[in-house]
Amino acid sequence: MKHFSQLVLQLAISMITIAQTTPNGSLAQPGYYRMQVGDFEITALSDGTIPQDVHQLLTHTQPGEIDRLLKAGCVTAPVETSVNAYVIKTGDRLILVDAGTADAYGPTLGKLAQSLLHAGYQPQQIDAVLLTHIHPDHVGGLMDGDKMVFPNATIYVSQPELDFWLTLGHADSAPAGLKGYFASAKQKVGPYLKAGRVKTFGYGHELLPGITPIASPGHTPGHTLYELDSKGQRLIFFGDIMHVAAVQFADPAVTIQYDIDPAAAAQQRKKAFSEAAKGGYWVAGDHLSFPGIGHIRADGAKYVWVPVNYSTYGTGQ
Ligand SMILES: [Zn+2]
Repeated sequence: MKHFSQLVLQLAISMITIAQTTPNGSLAQPGYYRMQVGDFEITALSDGTIPQDVHQLLTHTQPGEIDRLLKAGCVTAPVETSVNAYVIKTGDRLILVDAGTADAYGPTLGKLAQSLLHAGYQPQQIDAVLLTHIHPDHVGGLMDGDKMVFPNATIYVSQPELDFWLTLGHADSAPAGLKGYFASAKQKVGPYLKAGRVKTFGYGHELLPGITPIASPGHTPGHTLYELDSKGQRLIFFGDIMHVAAVQFADPAVTIQYDIDPAAAAQQRKKAFSEAAKGGYWVAGDHLSFPGIGHIRADGAKYVWVPVNYSTYGTGQ
């Protein structure tokens, strides 16, 4: 596994990048984007971006495929990759979907708290956090040192995900490449678990009004999508169903080293893309270019990402 040498490399690249572009470490962009889906207000929050060495990270690729698809997508390696999270305002609740990286991946990331404040929300206002999975770039922002960042929130996560990372004792026997992930799970989710603030759920019914979890195991054993339905409109939070838009929309069979079960992850991705293209609903992805909200269109055996049309008023039209 190359995760940690990769992280050190990414950190080094990040520090060079930040020194060149944002000397004070602040975001060059506003960091939030708001839109309406039925009665629900969705606010995309940027945790920042980080360069990813996709030649190293992507697996199950065809010879020459990555370079060809990067060129077609007008991006170059390392590919600047977004880390997004989302706030859902339902009227009586403020719900966060995933929680960013905090300090896990260096100074170009960890901007979620800043973006949340810019969007007009205080961390204490968050009632619930829906976790798509327990990876450091999705749970990092739950804790600031030993302090809960969202002291009034219930953390929702699927039972298989909680079992795998925290409750079944896999950490001691984990391969070296996964040890850091287990440590992060314990550090970031553990305190909420101890405080009785973590709730698990089954699939197939609403978790909160208008919000239904969908099983999507592969990237991690309990990876979960969240479907939001309001007034005939639908948005599905995709979590880590994909990581590199320029490559994986064109070829959903391409996997990434972060996948625990790459074959299952690829299968789930194909299913999610196909259903989204047929259903014509909104999707929001944690590693799609910010704000990461848009539609998916089928093009033969491939898929095309259609980002949300920018609107000052957040109509999403
Ligand atoms: Zn991720």
